[in-house]
Amino acid sequence: MHTLIKEILAIAIRFSGIPFLIREVFCRNKVTILIYHDPQPDIFEKHLKYLSKHYNFIALDELVNALHNGDWSNIPPKSLVITIDDGHAGNYNLLPIFKAHKLIPTIYLCSQIVNTNRGLWFKVDGIRERRGKKNRELFKRIPNRERLARLKKEYDFHPQKEFSDRQALNRHELIEMGLYVDFQAHTQFHPILTTCTDSECQQEIEGGKRDLEASLDVTCSHFCYPNGDYTEREINIVKECGYKSARTSDCGWNDVATHPYKLKAMDITNDASINQLVAQMSGAFQYLKYALEGSFNGTHPTIVMDEKDGKQ
Ligand SMILES: [Zn+2]
Repeated sequence: MHTLIKEILAIAIRFSGIPFLIREVFCRNKVTILIYHDPQPDIFEKHLKYLSKHYNFIALDELVNALHNGDWSNIPPKSLVITIDDGHAGNYNLLPIFKAHKLIPTIYLCSQIVNTNRGLWFKVDGIRERRGKKNRELFKRIPNRERLARLKKEYDFHPQKEFSDRQALNRHELIEMGLYVDFQAHTQFHPILTTCTDSECQQEIEGGKRDLEASLDVTCSHFCYPNGDYTEREINIVKECGYKSARTSDCGWNDVATHPYKLKAMDITNDASINQLVAQMSGAFQYLKYALEGSFNGTHPTIVMDEKDGKQ
């Protein structure tokens, strides 16, 4: 969407009063989780200045403990959890902002990509658009093995490939950030889990936890589904591996009845203006997108591979 149109829409949504009502009335006793990826520090700083005036930052653990105990009494009104996906190298530059706002964000890491020069497959050059088609979206919908084979053939990409430029946080940065950041798991290589076989799925979910616990000396209790795709199979594996929660990309807010392995969240774009941040937090854009994709209940439309392709 054109930047100017987006901004005008965002202003219209912001000043409609709907975001205010959602924040002050509908979600007053709910917990909002935001999803960031790789925001620039100046933009992120502006967001936090705005958010700190209107919300109470809490750590993900506080929310998850309240859900498991069924006790919401320690959750302040208008609570907000900041999560950041994928472990992009640029996240290191946000550290002074976390410290200044006394905020403990959760950063979900791909355990076999951090501290390497490997890359995220969906960021491979040229994958977004190819011959007018949205190739990246197509690649999310094919069986995992076929995706890997086509990435190799068409883009000379494989998960272990090392690039000259580093995309992810390195060990030195992870250790320095560790005092101020809650590092949690986002698989090993960021596949679309619902297109994986049972054993691939198990390996990615279990391996992500094991790798991070060994390399960072942390307890890894929380998981995040890549691309927000999950089914009952993924929930069961996540539980069996000992995680206490899993965050989806399903749009919405969390209350005492929320399933701890289906945490809802609001996606915030890297370059959002304050008007766009407010509009995105109201869910307006996301619900419109879901409606256009044919899902009207605020649930991220999950990609599931055909049974015949999925079983080994
Ligand atoms: Zn991700």
